[in-house]
Amino acid sequence: MRIVLLGAPGSGKGTQAALLKEMYGIPHIATGDILRTDVAEGTDLGKKAESFMNDGQLVPDDLILEMVEARLGRPDTRRGWLLDGFPRTLPQAEGLRDMTERIDQKVDAGVILNVDAEVVVRRLSGRRVCESCQSVTNVSEMQAGACPLCGEKLVLRPDDEPQVVRKRIEVFEAQTRPVFAFFNEHYDVIEIDASKPVDQVTEALRVGLDRYDHS
Ligand SMILES: [Zn+2]
Repeated sequence: MRIVLLGAPGSGKGTQAALLKEMYGIPHIATGDILRTDVAEGTDLGKKAESFMNDGQLVPDDLILEMVEARLGRPDTRRGWLLDGFPRTLPQAEGLRDMTERIDQKVDAGVILNVDAEVVVRRLSGRRVCESCQSVTNVSEMQAGACPLCGEKLVLRPDDEPQVVRKRIEVFEAQTRPVFAFFNEHYDVIEIDASKPVDQVTEALRVGLDRYDHS
């Protein structure tokens, strides 16, 4: 089973990816992690990527695709994989389609986590991180402004400021939303309402993915 997980910022994509990985025993392949690992291990691709990053440039799509291809060639992908954080743009989506067809690992389904912009702003700007243990809490679960785990101070990350969240949503709408349409046109797509609580979203995903071959 080969799945591409797509969702807006704040759609709970990371949480669902971790649950799907458990449920189906397939590796969760996040492009951010591949990049960090390749750079840390000093692979040829990692060194190339690092030279762009050191110049303050984005790592080009071709290079990201090469890294994803190398990752998909590892032995733990025999039963499938779950790709997360890629593609973010239409050219990346086209590149991914061409690459997966070339290496005979065609995508079975795209999973789209839909969520209203207002829900996203509320979720992300309600998020607080503990200065001490780094655990993440929502303001609704906060106890007198302290971390429920260790009691230390909770702070709002700059990335979660409402105006920054709105900017991230704008970038997402302009660059990544067209990827959803591309998937709808070229692949089986499972669309899930991710405004619901986490367990309901997971259940909807399980029902949607049950018809695929998990062997
Ligand atoms: Zn804490």
